[in-house]
Parts: sequence; C-alpha cells; structure tokens
Amino acid sequence: MARKTYTGPVVDVSFDGEVCQHAAECVRGMPTVFDPSARPWIDPTQAGSEGTAQTLREVIGRCPSGALRVVDHPWPARSSRSRSQASASSSTAWHRPNSSDPAS
Ligand code: SF4
Repeated sequence: MARKTYTGPVVDVSFDGEVCQHAAECVRGMPTVFDPSARPWIDPTQAGSEGTAQTLREVIGRCPSGALRVVDHPWPARSSRSRSQASASSSTAWHRPNSSDPAS
C-alpha cells in the first residue's frame, strides 16, 4: 500500500499502512481524528484550529513506526484570508476605469 494523504484545513496527515505497527497511539491520542470504524479512518478536518492542529502534531509525533506524518500547508491558514483579500482588491482595481491610462 502506498502512502496516502488526508487533507485538513490547517495540516494534512499522510499514512503508510505497510509501516503501521497498530500500536494505537494515534487512536488513544486523538480519537476524533483517528477512528478505525470510520471511512476514511483519518479525518484531519477534526483538527480545524491551530490549537487542535498542534495537538495533532504532538499525537503524530508519538507514532512509534513513522507510519504517520504531518504535512504542513505552505502558508498558515490565517494568511489565506489576506491573500484572497489582496486578490479581491486587485481585481476591483482591474475593473475600475482609469482615465490616465494612455491605452484607453
Ligand atoms: S500510532 Fe502509528 S503505528 Fe500506531 S496505529 Fe497509529 S499509525 Fe499505526
């Protein structure tokens, strides 16, 4: 089985079932994210705040086999808002008539 990645709002979790030792550290540590009776059994959306994501990082750090890994997003969730605001303001500027534009 290849390593699979499960996407969350703050961090993603990747898992390799061939490496897992079934020690259940993950299930004991954060049962809202790691639920063997659910499909998929890993749900990083349950760690939707920076605080719960940090707990998730700590629980994954206790995985004895290395089957679990945290995949941090390239930028913090809070900066995605400012990125979209920047995009919205630049798109507003693009639609604004500009009489000083020599091309118009
Ligand atoms: S803590 Fe790691 S080794 Fe243990 S069950 Fe979870 S993934 Fe498998």
